Amino acid sequence: MAIDSPNYDRHMLELDNWFARDLEGLHVPWQGTAFPEPRLLRFNHALAEALGLPEGLDTPDGAAFLGGSRLPETLTPVAQAYAGHQFGHFVPQLGDGRALLLGELVDGQGVYRDLHLKGSGPTPFSRGGDGKAALGPMLREFLVGEAMHALGIPTTRALAVVATGEWIQREGPRPGAVLARVALSHLRVGTFEYAATHLDPAGVKRLADHAIARHDPDLRTHETPYLALLERVIERQVQLVVRWMLVGFVHGVMNTDNTTISGESIDYGPCAFMEAYDPGTVFSSIDVHGRYAYGNQPGILEWNLARFAETLLPLIEADNPEHAVALATERIHDIPSRYQTLWLDGMRRKLGLASEEDEDLQLVEELLGHMQRDQVDFTQAFRALIAAAEGRAAPFRRLFAAHSPIDAWLARWQARLARDPQSQEARGASMRQTNPVYIPRNHKVEEALAAAEQEGDLSKFDRLLEAVRHPFEERPGFEDLARPAPEDFGPYRTFCGT
Ligand code: AMP
Ligand code: MG
Repeated sequence: MAIDSPNYDRHMLELDNWFARDLEGLHVPWQGTAFPEPRLLRFNHALAEALGLPEGLDTPDGAAFLGGSRLPETLTPVAQAYAGHQFGHFVPQLGDGRALLLGELVDGQGVYRDLHLKGSGPTPFSRGGDGKAALGPMLREFLVGEAMHALGIPTTRALAVVATGEWIQREGPRPGAVLARVALSHLRVGTFEYAATHLDPAGVKRLADHAIARHDPDLRTHETPYLALLERVIERQVQLVVRWMLVGFVHGVMNTDNTTISGESIDYGPCAFMEAYDPGTVFSSIDVHGRYAYGNQPGILEWNLARFAETLLPLIEADNPEHAVALATERIHDIPSRYQTLWLDGMRRKLGLASEEDEDLQLVEELLGHMQRDQVDFTQAFRALIAAAEGRAAPFRRLFAAHSPIDAWLARWQARLARDPQSQEARGASMRQTNPVYIPRNHKVEEALAAAEQEGDLSKFDRLLEAVRHPFEERPGFEDLARPAPEDFGPYRTFCGT
């Protein structure tokens, strides 16, 4: 349906349709549901500005567009096809069951970004689902994406949340919403698995060439471009998961369809931030065996990337499959040591160390051991280390149990700091940019989303968003947002696909 507002055309977003044009067989042309009353609930002005988007999107016409209800005829929206390993089991066809790719925004530097809708109605990939999304989970994705971005972690980001005016059925009736999201692309390991399963080798090559053109254009003239693509994706994903681990983020559903080629975090469904340090932390209600527990994430990443490598084998060396396997396996087997190096670098920064010593790993592991034993809040402990590095150790010590051996650890750490060449000032500044004060704490997220869904009150959401958008900046009035959940909040459970 065409946009009928004369105002709209003036502000029209120009979108390319590179994916749709380039990759036949990996999508179906589709349209969004026309919702009764699309209303813009939140618009990400910071993102719109950063992308240089035209004004006028934060209007009722913009809401009809960003909610998928009225899409200009010039667009070629598609539902993307993908497969995926879900909890270790291969599902040959998943796809956008409640999402649409509207097309790509191209910025001044020629960088392409998908404009994508989630909750925009059923598609041929819905598999019995209603194709809709509830308001709470879409606001959650907005909030967590902004928090991740502010923490310096590559992520898809929400441009807007549009209330649809419709009630949808979950455990009970919930207000419906559409999330408009921006991503470097929506190419996933699952997209490659779909191509490898359903298309001929030329189809997989088309997809790989598209991914290279999109994310690694310098590889187009590379001697072994597909092996190099594997290396790039490994590097980006290892960097990503290291960053998750350093802030205590648990994605919750690290299926291969949620592992991007771009290296951005995607799909903030059952994700949550760990409070008390424990590698076994699991929030997702369906992750009964803890496959995607906090401490398992690096291992799962390697597993997911092995699935990606398998799809590339025929491209890596078509006439020598054994050699292709050997080359890919070498890259995959290198992941744990690459991960460990980057993680330890990050942990050193969190501890205020600019130099390297062999015993640093032990120092980190001992701290984590003390934190786990005393159930110390991960975020608070690292933040309190800043004052401890400046001679005020009491707030840090108070986080641990009485008679905790943490004093012996503190003494070793202080001796280590004394051997580190960094000035006190530089160390403090670096730690303040590394150890956040504010993360989206589960009890605060729940409180904010409940108020939004049940009372239409977004003030708690806005306040939390404001805090997590400046996660390193301690501000008066936000003290409650820096503290872990009270005991009576109980164990936290999250849900998928809502
Ligand atoms: P996600 O958990 O969001 O990564 O989604 C996993 C798969 O389930 C994707 O193929 C989604 O499109 C699909 N899905 C999730 N929720 C719904 C829904 N309400 N209706 C249709 N498909 C859905
Ligand atoms: Mg997904």
